[in-house]
Amino acid sequence: MFRLSLTLITAALAHVSHAVDNEVENRSTVQSSIPDYCATPLASYFDGKSRLTPDCIVQPRAAKEVATIVKVLTAASFLKRCQFAVRSGGHTPIPGANNIDNGVTIDLLYMNGTTYDPDTKLASISPAARWGSVYETLEPLGRMVGGGRGSTVGVGGFLLGGGISHYAPRIGLACDNVVNFQVVLASGLIVNANKKTNSDLFKALKGGNSNFGIVTRYDMETFESEDLWGGIVTWPSSTVDQHFKALVNFGTDPNRDPNAALIVFQGYSTATLADVVRAAFDYTKPVARPDAYKEFYAITPNLTDTTKIQPMSAIAAEFGSDTTKRVQFRTVSFKIDLATLQETARLYKILITEIQAKASGDYRISCLSQVWSTSYTANSTAKGGNVLGTERYKENFIMYQSYLLWSEPKDDKLFMDLGLMLTNGIEKFAKSKGTLIDYLYLNYSDKDQDPLTGYGPENVKFMKKVATKYDPLGIYQNLLPGGFKISKV
Ligand SMILES: Cc1cc2nc3c(=O)[nH]c(=O)nc-3n(C[C@H](O)[C@H](O)[C@H](O)COP(=O)(O)OP(=O)(O)OC[C@H]3O[C@@H](n4cnc5c(N)ncnc54)[C@H](O)[C@@H]3O)c2cc1C
Repeated sequence: MFRLSLTLITAALAHVSHAVDNEVENRSTVQSSIPDYCATPLASYFDGKSRLTPDCIVQPRAAKEVATIVKVLTAASFLKRCQFAVRSGGHTPIPGANNIDNGVTIDLLYMNGTTYDPDTKLASISPAARWGSVYETLEPLGRMVGGGRGSTVGVGGFLLGGGISHYAPRIGLACDNVVNFQVVLASGLIVNANKKTNSDLFKALKGGNSNFGIVTRYDMETFESEDLWGGIVTWPSSTVDQHFKALVNFGTDPNRDPNAALIVFQGYSTATLADVVRAAFDYTKPVARPDAYKEFYAITPNLTDTTKIQPMSAIAAEFGSDTTKRVQFRTVSFKIDLATLQETARLYKILITEIQAKASGDYRISCLSQVWSTSYTANSTAKGGNVLGTERYKENFIMYQSYLLWSEPKDDKLFMDLGLMLTNGIEKFAKSKGTLIDYLYLNYSDKDQDPLTGYGPENVKFMKKVATKYDPLGIYQNLLPGGFKISKV
């Protein structure tokens, strides 16, 4: 029965693609480029664990095609449940979030163009564009958007989870700079969601992941493009305490310069065999060594320094990351507190020691501490709101991310258990010290984590209401199992 249904579905999807291809020829759309990775969709998943083998991969080129695919899959499911996955850039390292075994993957890879309208000053970006291509399109036009810090990261998932750019302290989260989403609803209807039209859907999409629809276009505010000063400076691991003290002062400074973005991270890799502390400095004006980071410059000697004045596209290329073998992201948030930061370093040492003793292949460990600034969401409400709920925090906090990367499938358990030990240990310490923050950043969360609950009860209730209103049959809850589901909260 299943095989028969699948054959029917596949045939129907093939027919759909053909029929709509003919329509596409008659439409005046801006042609998106076709990157090499479109030919090898599975190999282009960032995380090797996520290279599942769907029964069928459909690669639409326009919103109308996405709508037809959703209608076919929904109709087919009346015969036999046919689950599907949606993939934009494919950067989420959670198997099943953006791909599926025994189902259909809607792979948006061909929908990757960026256009700019000088009259409205808006950039219209397709979901599978990578941020590097967005910056390369906008920079020659003298415009910029707040997007991913790495060139390879996809637009689609990034904007539905919040989106932290180097510009975030100045212009807020990337999702709050979206003025309109074009969305394919579960019924197959293509709608706009903005401050005036479907304003509840507009708000829910800003943080709500894949719960409400498949977004086929993001219209974003742009601003004048200027070179930035930035790069990565590396120090020996012995300086970690000095960095944490400087990070506390940076994060609690009431007069913090809104142009100054910063990530401090501890790291070790088999490529360098060096245990180090790094700081990624990104100042959104062409000013070398601005005062905002002066406490960090005083930590000497450093080992390497790549900082220079350069365009956003060049900075993003330095942050870009090729597809990899195995990856785990986990996250925990806590108040800006030296003792909690020091605890992260203690647990990091345990993790590194275990991995050095037991891992059989290559690996790279990065544990990142970033300041989540109240300015990230200061203008959210005025812009139509989002569902993250972070306005309830009146002080900046630390968003910690463990980013483990390894080569051997047989080491999966080792790395994933140690990642869990690290964030659980930090959480336990922070809870006991009263520094734990409930909010978890969805784009850095692992499968067992629950970022939607961290948005707070009001936002959970709101998201449930919006999901029921726009998808009464629960298609995106039941047939699209990947991602963080509001029905499971
Ligand atoms: C190297 C690297 C660097 C990163 N840097 C940053 C950073 O600077 N700032 C930051 O905030 N985050 C960063 N991230 C995290 C990143 O935001 C998430 O991994 C994000 O999900 C990537 O988007 P994507 O389109 O590539 O994801 P995908 O894996 O394709 O999708 C992620 C989720 O969103 C859903 N989804 C995707 N597109 C759509 C759509 N069009 N409609 C509905 N649902 C959709 C998918 O089904 C999936 O559940 C980084 C990640 C990596 C791996």
